[in-house]
Order: sequence, then C-alpha cells, then structure tokens
Amino acid sequence: MELKICVLPGDGIGKEIVAQAEKVLKKVAKKFDHEIYIDHALIGGCAIDEYGEPLPQETIDKCLKADAVLLGAVGGPKWDNIDHNLRPEKGLLGIRKALGLFANLRPAKVFEELKDASCLRSEIVEKGIDLVVVRELTGGIYFGEPKGIEIRNGERFGYNTMVYSETEIRRIARVAFEIARKRNKKVCSVDKANVLDVSRLWREVVEDVAKEYPDIELQHMYVDNAAMQLVINPSQFDVIVTSNLFGDILSDEASIITGSIGMLPSASIKDSNSPGLYEPIHGSAPDIAGQNKANPLATILSLAMMFTYSFSLEKEAKSIENAVNRVLSEGYRTQDIYTKGFKLVSCSEMGDLVASYI
Ligand code: NAD
Repeated sequence: MELKICVLPGDGIGKEIVAQAEKVLKKVAKKFDHEIYIDHALIGGCAIDEYGEPLPQETIDKCLKADAVLLGAVGGPKWDNIDHNLRPEKGLLGIRKALGLFANLRPAKVFEELKDASCLRSEIVEKGIDLVVVRELTGGIYFGEPKGIEIRNGERFGYNTMVYSETEIRRIARVAFEIARKRNKKVCSVDKANVLDVSRLWREVVEDVAKEYPDIELQHMYVDNAAMQLVINPSQFDVIVTSNLFGDILSDEASIITGSIGMLPSASIKDSNSPGLYEPIHGSAPDIAGQNKANPLATILSLAMMFTYSFSLEKEAKSIENAVNRVLSEGYRTQDIYTKGFKLVSCSEMGDLVASYI
C-alpha cells in the first residue's frame, strides 16, 4: 500500500520523539511491504520563527495532501509572551479545524509492566484499565453562540451556550460504536440529562444510533458519576463517548489514572478517507528538550493508532504495540518511567529498541 504521511515535529521534545516514531514507521513499511512517503512541515513556535505565524498555509496544504498526519508537540517559554493570536497552540487548534477533525480518541491503558505508576490502589488497577474516551471536538459549549461578557443591570455577566445538532451527535456516536465493535463491544455515553436539555437530545440521538449496532451494549451515565466511576472502577469501561466539555475533563482524568504521561497516544479523526491527526497527549516538555531523555512511546503508540484508524492495517498496528510491550517487559525504561532495577535508556535508544522488535 502507498501511504503518504505528513510529519509535524513542532517544538521542544517534538523533534526527538517524532524521529523515533519515524524509525519505527520505516521498519513497519519494510516488514509489511508498504511504500511510505514522508513529508515534513512546521507548526507552532518553530513556524512562528520561520514564517511569523504558527500555522503557515504551506503546512495546511501538505497535511491536506497526506493520508495521515503525525504531530510531536508545540509551545515553549520562548513564545509564552507573544501576541495571544500568534501563540504556538493556535497552530494546533488551526490544524484540527483545517482538517475538520470532529472526534478525539484518547485511549487510557495501564501497561502490565507499569502498573505501579498508577495513582490508584493496586486492587483497582489489578482488574485492568483499557478504555478509550471519544470526545466530540468541534461543537458544544466551546463554540456555541451566543457567548460573551456584557454589562446587565450594572454588573458583568459571562455566558456561553452548550448546543449540539442531531447531526453532530449522530456522527460522534457512530465513531464510538464503530470503535467499540473493534474492541469489547461496550459504549458508555456520558451526559447530564437530568439537568441539561442539550443532554436530553444527546441521549435520545445516541439511543437512536444504537439501533444500528445491536451487537454493542449501550449504557448512559451522568458526568458526575462517570468522574467518580473512573477512579473507583475504571475497568468497567470500554468506550466512553461524550461532548466537548465533558470529554476535555474526563479524558484528562482517564489519562492521569494510568500514571505515565509519556505513554499516552491520541488520535483526532474525521470520516474515513480524510487525514487523521495522531499525537501524544503530552506537551513539548521544555524542561528536558534537547537532552535525548524524552519518552517516545506515546508518539510511537500514536503511530499504531494511525495504522488502525487511518489505514485499517491491524497487523501493522499490533506489531508496533507488541514491540512496545516487549521493550517494557524486557525492562527498558526512559527516565520518566524508570525505577531502580530497570535499564535506563535514552529517547533514541528507546526508538531503536522498538524499531528492532518490529
Ligand atoms: P508537558 O506535557 O510538556 O510537560 C509536563 C511534564 O511532563 C514535564 O515535567 C515534562 O518533562 C514531562 N513530560 C511530558 N512529556 C514527556 C515525555 N514524552 N517524556 C518524559 N517526560 C515528559 O506540559 P507543560 O510543561 O504544561 O507544557 C510545556 C509546553 O507544552 C507549553 O508551552 C504548553 O503550552 C505546551 N503543550 C503542548 C501540547 C501539545 O502540543 N499538544 C499539550 C500540552 C502542552
């Protein structure tokens, strides 16, 4: 298969971690006989330095021509005090918008070998944590109108609008059910239908979509309960689908219970046949940038997600995940997940190891 991938290393550790994922990508291409065309483009602070803006048109054009996009991370202290509209993070929001990505997938999985890194009690982690939060990304209260701050009766009022159309709910629900089909066939839809009208519609539409997926078990949960259940009984979840605001909070909560930020990948997708964006959930880690210390596994696992969700190439995805598992079970650790008795390796050594186990 011919695969065109646009790589956006970004800032800080971005370049180091993405370089490791590229090593793995080349190995997968060789082993499974794919022709891979890799293009690079600038985003974030480095694009501001070069072009005066965080998302140059050239970057958007290259991404739109690709089958999938792999991103490192953006931002850093160098650009902290520049004009708000030119901040590196604007590049991230911009590329998600330009690619029309409406679904954000964040798996939260505790690796057998890293169970001790979880902040939850061992008897909870023992039951296993392997879930995906599917967050609606382009609608809801972050974008709803009207919004603003205004003076009413002599004092300031701030307001936003939580709004969803049936179409928006239907398409994100379908993404969740499709993913559940490839996993453990359970969807938990999270809302606040006891209080919010928008959530009542959300629930009705999700119920409707569920009729197309009789093989998938659907459950509804209020967001306050979901926040609790994630820490007291996370093993009950397979796929969680929720709105932009609830998903923002729950996906961060879900990732932190696994304990290791350097291990967590993510994907933002649209309908099939358009490029998805794959990136680690962490930032540019300026405190360790340029020191060859960063953990590249979140980026490498993002690559595995690319093979699953953009290319439907399951064997390739599994080979990456298996290589990561093998490296961990053989005791190799980057500094962030290192504990005494294990073998400390650099970012590039970790990349070499994973690539060698493909
Ligand atoms: P961060 O995720 O960059 O770092 C938080 C802590 O985790 C740091 O101590 C860092 O060293 C460590 N860390 C993160 N990733 C790691 C890895 N792969 N291996 C080892 N250790 C790792 O978050 P922050 O410090 O709040 O933000 C730093 C910069 O990144 C800021 O400019 C922020 O705006 C930006 N940021 C970008 C993204 C993104 O590109 N998606 C996301 C979050 C933050």
